Amino acid sequence: MSDKTIFQMIADREIPADIVYEDDLCLCFRDINPQAPIHLLIVPKKRIIRIAEAEACDQNTLGHLLLTAQKVAQQEGFADSGFRTVINNGADGGEEVPHLHLHILAGRKLTWPPG
Ligand code: 5GP
Repeated sequence: MSDKTIFQMIADREIPADIVYEDDLCLCFRDINPQAPIHLLIVPKKRIIRIAEAEACDQNTLGHLLLTAQKVAQQEGFADSGFRTVINNGADGGEEVPHLHLHILAGRKLTWPPG
């Protein structure tokens, strides 16, 4: 596997981030280039490169990311107004950082389909 990703550096506190939630399995922080009034990233501490490379043993971690989205939405007060979760995968999917992450977008009416 290649060198440490920017998200591993955030998890290891080597570079700063606005962290809103953390537990044993994952970290949630604000995206540096928000695409909505609220734009959070949930990142597993174990590096899974992308969905296409996830393994059966990652099942618990993958489920945990979604339940963390629910928890953070309640914590940050946008669970009732609504939000979107997104995982970009590969070049056509718009993935920039090869360390699986769940985007949470909220705080405005989101349109569909995305670009
Ligand atoms: P992707 O395109 O891989 O799905 O999303 C990567 C996301 O990470 C982008 O939305 C980008 O703005 C965000 N990002 C990239 N570098 C940093 C960083 O150093 N700090 C934070 N907080 N977000 C970052």
